[in-house]
Amino acid sequence: MLRTHTCGELRKEHAGQKTTLSGWVQTHRIQGKLSFILLRDRYGTTQIFVNPKITQEIGEIRRESVIQVTGEVVLRPENQIKKELSTGEIELSAEKITILTHADPLPLELDENTESGDETRLKYRYLDLRMPKMAKNIIKRHEAVMFVREYLDKQGFLEINTPILTKSTPEGARDYLVPSRIHKGKFYALPQAPQQYKQLLMVAGFDKYFQIAPCFRDEAARANRCPGEFYQIDMEMSFVTQDDVLKIVEDMMIKLIETVFPDKKITQIPFPRLKYEDVMKEYGTDSPDIRKNKEDKNEMGFCWVIDFPLFTKQTEEDYFHGAGKNLAPSHHMFTAPKKEDEHLLDTEPQNVKSYQHDLVLNGFEVGGGSIRIHNSEMQAKIFDLIGFTEEQKKEFKHILEAFKYGVPPHGGIAPGLDRLLMVIMGKDTIRDVIAFPKDSSAKDPVVNAPSTVTKEQLNELHIETKK
Ligand code: ASP
Repeated sequence: MLRTHTCGELRKEHAGQKTTLSGWVQTHRIQGKLSFILLRDRYGTTQIFVNPKITQEIGEIRRESVIQVTGEVVLRPENQIKKELSTGEIELSAEKITILTHADPLPLELDENTESGDETRLKYRYLDLRMPKMAKNIIKRHEAVMFVREYLDKQGFLEINTPILTKSTPEGARDYLVPSRIHKGKFYALPQAPQQYKQLLMVAGFDKYFQIAPCFRDEAARANRCPGEFYQIDMEMSFVTQDDVLKIVEDMMIKLIETVFPDKKITQIPFPRLKYEDVMKEYGTDSPDIRKNKEDKNEMGFCWVIDFPLFTKQTEEDYFHGAGKNLAPSHHMFTAPKKEDEHLLDTEPQNVKSYQHDLVLNGFEVGGGSIRIHNSEMQAKIFDLIGFTEEQKKEFKHILEAFKYGVPPHGGIAPGLDRLLMVIMGKDTIRDVIAFPKDSSAKDPVVNAPSTVTKEQLNELHIETKK
C-alpha cells in the first residue's frame, strides 16, 4: 500500500507514530520558508507541516496533484485544534514528500458552495465528485443499496440478474434499440424494466426476487427523472396479496430511513393507504404530499396510493407507446383488475379498478407496482382492451404461453432508486445522486455519448444512416 492510514483517520492517539498518507493536494500554503499542505482523500483531510528544507526542495505544489507523504504525527497545540476537521487535533510533520502525479490547472473550481449541474461540472464529473459534498451522495447511495440487499436477503429474496439485451415490446416508453450483427435486420431492445422476466421468474418458482435493476427508457428529461437510464429496486413475490407487498416494502423503507438516514423522521407509520379517487379530490394529484411541515427537509411523508383505475385515456404528455388510441394501462398491462370489477371489463372498462399501488414520498411517486394478472385468458383480454394489434399480441406470446404451465399468483413493485434517494436526501436534481448522469439532452458529457461510429461498424450491423 502507498499509505498506512487515510487522510481522515489520524487522531491524537497516533501522536509520535510514523505514518504515510497519500492523497490530493487541496491547498499548499507557503508561509515564508515553511509551508502547509491540506491533503485530501475520500475519508477526510489532514494538515501536513512542511519544513523549510522540503519546502525549498519541492517548491509550490499545484492544487489537486497527488502526493505521498511520510512523517511523524504531531499534536497541535490546544489553541490550534481545528474543530472543523476530524483530524484537527494533529498534523503530519513531513519527512519525505513524493509527487506521484502533477495536476494541470483544473477546468472548474472545486467549490462546495457551487451547485453541480452546469455543463462543465457534468463534463468533468470525476473532478466534481472529488468534493466531499458530492462524494457524500454517492457514498450514501452505496449505503442504501447495501442496506436493501441485506434486508431483502434476510427476508429470503434472491437477487437475480435479468438480460440487458432483450426484446422490444410495447411497454409504455420508447425503447432503446441495439442492432444485431449476427441476425441481419434484427434488433435487441434495452429493458424498460425487468417486468416480464421477473414474472417469468415467478413461473420458474423463485418466489421472492429482487434486483438493483438498470432500466432504459427513451424519454424526455424531467426534473425528477434522468433521461435514458435509471435504477430500480425491482421486486416480485409469489403467493402474496397486495397487503403483503405493501407491508414488506413499508418495513424496508422504515428501516432504511432509521439505518441510513437517521436524521430523518417519518410523518406517519403505518404509511396511510389512500384511495386514488380520494387523493385526486383532495390534492388534485395522484402523488400527494402528506407532510405536516413542508419546509422541514428531514420530514419524510410516505403514503400509499391504491385503487387506481385499470385504464387511463391516452394523453400526449404521458403517451403509452404501444397501446391504441383510446385506453392505455394506468400502470402497465400486467396489472390485475380488482376481482369485484372484472364483470365491468366488457361494458365499462373505464370504471374498472386495479390492484396497482404507488409509493409516494413528499409528493413524488417513488415506486409503482401491482398484483399481476396470472391467467392467460385475462391477459389476452387486457391486450385487446388496450387496443393491441394481432402483431403486437404476438410480441407477448412468451408470457401467454408461460402462463399455461402453472403460474403462481404474484405481485411486486419497483421503487426507483435514484428518485427515492433524491427525495430522501432533499436534492433539487436527480443528478446529484448519480455518479455519471446524462445531461438534459440524454448525452453523457464525460465520454461524449452518443457518438458517431465507423462505416465498418455500421456495415457489420447492416445499417445505413440517413444524411
Ligand atoms: N415494472 C414496473 C415499472 O417499472 C414496476 C412493477 O410493476 O413492479 O413501473
